[in-house]
Amino acid sequence: MPKVVIIGGGLVGAATALGLHQIGIQSTVYDQVNPVEAVVDGRAIEFGDSGGAVLIQAGGLRVLRTLGLLDECLAAGQSSSFVSWHKIDGSAQIVGNTKAWNQKAGETDPKLLAPLQILRSTLHTILIKACHRVGIKTLVNKKLVDVKQDDSSVTAFFADGSTATGDILIGADGIHSATRHKVFGEHLNATFTSSIGHIGVVNIKEHGITIKETEECSFFVDRDKKLFVAVFKSSADTAAINVSTFDEVTVEGDDQSASYRPYTDLPKHAGHLADVLKSWGVPPHLEKMMRHSHRLSSYSVYDLPDMDSYRKGRVILIGDAAHGMVPSAGLGLLTGLEDVGTLVALFRNLPEEKDLNRVLELYSDIRVAREQQHPTRLAVCVSTLIPRLHLLEEVSIILYSVLL
Ligand SMILES: Cc1cc2nc3c(=O)[nH]c(=O)nc-3n(C[C@H](O)[C@H](O)[C@H](O)COP(=O)(O)OP(=O)(O)OC[C@H]3O[C@@H](n4cnc5c(N)ncnc54)[C@H](O)[C@@H]3O)c2cc1C
Repeated sequence: MPKVVIIGGGLVGAATALGLHQIGIQSTVYDQVNPVEAVVDGRAIEFGDSGGAVLIQAGGLRVLRTLGLLDECLAAGQSSSFVSWHKIDGSAQIVGNTKAWNQKAGETDPKLLAPLQILRSTLHTILIKACHRVGIKTLVNKKLVDVKQDDSSVTAFFADGSTATGDILIGADGIHSATRHKVFGEHLNATFTSSIGHIGVVNIKEHGITIKETEECSFFVDRDKKLFVAVFKSSADTAAINVSTFDEVTVEGDDQSASYRPYTDLPKHAGHLADVLKSWGVPPHLEKMMRHSHRLSSYSVYDLPDMDSYRKGRVILIGDAAHGMVPSAGLGLLTGLEDVGTLVALFRNLPEEKDLNRVLELYSDIRVAREQQHPTRLAVCVSTLIPRLHLLEEVSIILYSVLL
């Protein structure tokens, strides 16, 4: 079995390590996060304790089911059957019934019908704890600075001077991936789209905020002014509110060098953002959610150039490191989890050492075609998989959704 080095212990890196472990492949996860620096307001925060909610559709839930974590995730989050769109003041509502759509599309597992909304930090904790339970090591303070490979192995070099060598290296190091820069080319940069967002997380129970069932996943938009607010109920007690605009909502000390960053003066910044929302004319419960947020993160939206391949020699990219997705529709995590499902299915069905090359190549072909919605490339992938019908069946759900 190959020895695997995973760079990045975010949602996708952790899910990859777990998926590989299930089929007997050992990996170690290395993340740049510095636990000493991960302190906000004098309080040590959990690894990953920032951001708001992530939304996971059936394709991603299926992968969580494979990892044996679906029930735990469903219990910790909120399954929402509806999605609604509104003008910025809450008028002109349109409601979609996601559960009915999935039923109509042929989904048979009742647990996968409604998309799951869950705090990113909660999901991250579930994944990291699951890794810990099965003995997968996650080493922190390991910032990747270089990668070198030859015919027999690949080595990661970290900022602290240490190294890690394996048969394969998986870059799960997010939108600003150092793996992508070092192995695939320095020119493959994520570019800032000028869209900035702020996410508040609030205890709705404690603050007497009611969110209607049809508005548990809701979007409020002013198209002309390019203002966008999204609400995601993320458990029985919590919800996240995302505010994004192309006009900078200035916040003191805001540093755009990181994708997601916590605020240092919570009541002041939450109050400021709530005032901004009030001036936009949003429904009162949205303003209240922002004002009472107990966690705030800001993010910048980046765009990644399309890549022809996610594989170079012994290195592959996975999750945000491979593909830039619009963050507001939950596509980043969904496609990242699909990457994991595809990779694990390939390794499960092609377990021989001699197949390693084939696994990495097929992974890249299938995922590039999927992410770029490329019918011809997908057709080629399907035709190469047809002799292996058992494998085709496992990845078919992913291919099928694109070919239709
Ligand atoms: C702190 C944070 C908060 C987020 N909040 C939200 C949210 O509220 N809603 C939403 O839809 N999406 C959010 N996202 C994005 C979402 O998690 C991702 O789009 C999606 O889950 C894909 O995850 P990923 O594991 O590929 O990348 P990421 O989640 O970005 O994880 C990448 C990991 O790689 C590590 N890393 C980066 N560079 C290096 C390096 N040089 N060496 C070693 N390790 C490195 C990072 O520390 C991180 O742990 C957030 C991401 C982060 C990092």
